[in-house]
Amino acid sequence: MSKQPKRVVVTGGAGQIAYSLLFRIASGDMLGHDQPVILHILDLPSMENVLEGVKMELEDGAFPLLKQIIIGSDPYKIFEEIDLALLIGSKPRGPGMERSELLSENGKIFITQGHALNEVAKKEAKVLVIGNPCNTNCLIAMHNAPRLSRKNFHAMTRLDQNRATFQLAKKADVDISDVTNVTIWGNHSATQVPDYLNAKIKDRPLTNILQDKAWLEKDFMELIQKRGAAIINARGKSSAASAANAIIDAVRSLYYPTPSQQWFSSAVYSDGNPYGIPNDLIFSFPCRSKGDGSYEIVHDLLSDDFLQSKIDLTVKELIEERSIVEADITH
Ligand code: NAD
Repeated sequence: MSKQPKRVVVTGGAGQIAYSLLFRIASGDMLGHDQPVILHILDLPSMENVLEGVKMELEDGAFPLLKQIIIGSDPYKIFEEIDLALLIGSKPRGPGMERSELLSENGKIFITQGHALNEVAKKEAKVLVIGNPCNTNCLIAMHNAPRLSRKNFHAMTRLDQNRATFQLAKKADVDISDVTNVTIWGNHSATQVPDYLNAKIKDRPLTNILQDKAWLEKDFMELIQKRGAAIINARGKSSAASAANAIIDAVRSLYYPTPSQQWFSSAVYSDGNPYGIPNDLIFSFPCRSKGDGSYEIVHDLLSDDFLQSKIDLTVKELIEERSIVEADITH
């Protein structure tokens, strides 16, 4: 028996990440090659023509799994009955714009989209926020969508995990798939903490094999924290295809069971976490899923003074971000 289509909303549908993502969703790369999909694509009214063009190209792909394409600029219409929301659209940081200004500008987008999710999305809808600053945008959307469980909200740190996995495999001169259990702690920003201490190579502690502590603590950590900026310097635009690829990986991690003894990173609601991270933050933790769209935070990972001092910094940054948008999350 064929499956019921899943309704997936992509915001920022006229942007560069969406252009790398939509065709892969339509081909079945994200939800499975037996899962029909209906794409709901949102962008600003000024991008209507571009959305029309994207829709035409999706039609020209003749994807057997793509059952319908709905485009528009009203989140209350576009979010109707959706199963999964990929919230990519947000304002880029303009010249001379302070971080706090960016937070407040984008805050408005995520208040509206939170309200729209609350009113018209399926109650079980899962939400992945990609638009930056994604952790705090996600916190705003979550607080403005109280009908949905807080456990349905994620902000994306999977691109950071993938970047870290690649660099560790390259340094150890092993295959990418030999490196597992790479955790990103905290904010998707330059304070994020890529954790090598709990990572594994061929199921053994990575630090048994890579013993260059100076490289791990400084070069590796900075490389991952500043990778986004390095891409912008090289390409003149922020990472897009790798971000789209990470969205596919992040969603697959929720809808396929996590291999035994492994985990993936996702920024999720911090209340009740086992690592002493303050409540009411969207914080990246090691997570596992049974494959039904839900997740649990993995307990008992190791820490040391160095990692803990870095985690304290990312916590501090997230608390500062939250204080800037306090009015957007209190009712
Ligand atoms: P882009 O500028 O190419 O596209 C953004 C799109 O969002 C534009 O078409 C714009 O019109 C649209 N948009 C703006 N406000 C909107 C709103 N209120 N509703 C709907 N659409 C709206 O940008 P991009 O390269 O696709 O990146 C999008 C976001 O993703 C940025 O914030 C970027 O920083 C972020 N990003 C996050 C990660 C991550 O790992 N979390 C990685 C890469 C990029």
